Amino acid sequence: MIYKRSSQLFNEAKQYIPGGVNSPVRAFNAVGGEPIYIKKAKGAYLYDEDGNTLIDYIASWGPMILGHAHQPVVDALIDKTKLGTSFGIPTEIETKIAQLAVEMVPNIDKIRFVNSGTEACMSAVRLARGFTKKDKIIKFAGCYHGHSDSFLIQAGSGAVTFGAPNSPGVTKGTAKDTLLANYNDIDSVKSLVKANEDEIACIIIEPVPGNMGCILPQNDFLEQLRELCDTHSILLVFDEVMTGFRLAPGGVQELLGVKADIVTFGKVVGGGLPVGAFAARQEIMAHLAPEGPVYQAGTLSGNPLAMAAGLAMLTELNSKPEIFDELAQKTAYLHEGIAKVLTNHEITHQINRCGSMISVHFTDEPVVDFESAAKGNNSKFKTYFHGMLDRGIYLPPSAFESYFLNNALSYADLDHTIEALDDLAPDLK
Ligand SMILES: *Cc1c(COP(=O)(O)O)cnc(C)c1O
Repeated sequence: MIYKRSSQLFNEAKQYIPGGVNSPVRAFNAVGGEPIYIKKAKGAYLYDEDGNTLIDYIASWGPMILGHAHQPVVDALIDKTKLGTSFGIPTEIETKIAQLAVEMVPNIDKIRFVNSGTEACMSAVRLARGFTKKDKIIKFAGCYHGHSDSFLIQAGSGAVTFGAPNSPGVTKGTAKDTLLANYNDIDSVKSLVKANEDEIACIIIEPVPGNMGCILPQNDFLEQLRELCDTHSILLVFDEVMTGFRLAPGGVQELLGVKADIVTFGKVVGGGLPVGAFAARQEIMAHLAPEGPVYQAGTLSGNPLAMAAGLAMLTELNSKPEIFDELAQKTAYLHEGIAKVLTNHEITHQINRCGSMISVHFTDEPVVDFESAAKGNNSKFKTYFHGMLDRGIYLPPSAFESYFLNNALSYADLDHTIEALDDLAPDLK
């Protein structure tokens, strides 16, 4: 494939935008090479600036679960735009989407809309701290909750008790309130809780992580977290920015039947516009301003265009719940096809899958947490990524990301993807 115009555009962008991109993963640093510039997209396909067509497996990192430029979402946006794009004054559509979200998601009474997943998670933690009157939080290595300071934390050197900043600009003061545990390792959580008795406001987790590849909870890990939280009056925060309205209408709470105290959303909930949200039962949400003392605000929060896109998206998903089964079946089909090709070619691999999330890891060890995900062979992943891209398949440009299937993908697209891999496989030896 030819990427001449993309390359030119990237060079121009680098003069005015740091690294040429507005979010780092887009720069292809993990896989090398240069990003592709997209001109338009429809259904399962991306059309780039050089005239190439690509089958899309990232769906804008999740939001486009029904495919790009999905007609009901586009129509809702066009209609709404003509009526004015922002007022900073309440609108009826905010209540409509809130009502629908509360109907679809178990265990929540009220929801507050914000502009990104980052904002949702940041606000959820503030609310948890305000509600419990405690300061510390526990997060898991490899789980991503956006780029706010409290989450840009890595395990501290040797100390099991508190974390260290993993970006310049995050203060040691902030880092000391974030404790790091390992996913699927309940003992790592228990020892933190024990060492910080009565200090932990919440445990925040991607219940099915998608930011170290797709990882599945094992041995009742989420149930055990729930129990631990109940015993120690800790709030359990499910970051469902990826999984919400994707793995089931009610997200992982519905799929696996584990209740969270606060849930965060993003991606699908905005139908492709910048939206996030956090939700909880009334007792907790009552602490939020203006009803309660915990401050949180936003000039463009609940923006009419964002709400129109989100409402159109949720309405589609709510009225056609078979979409979730169709997506899961397509993903299982892809899983089977990829596994068969890689096995035939004797290429060591692991495939993790949940619903419409799937990831391929070039390692012989099961991938169950950040440490095992990091053992994947990255040079093999680069060959895989670029080889697939050259064959018209757009995969996430990092081994630590899940693929997000969209329901516009046809079985012919999946077959084409599997055939592309079969063609590429000899290079992966
Ligand atoms: C994408 C993501 C976020 C951050 O959302 P943004 O809209 O990018 O700020 C938070 N948590 C999870 C699990 C995510 O996947």
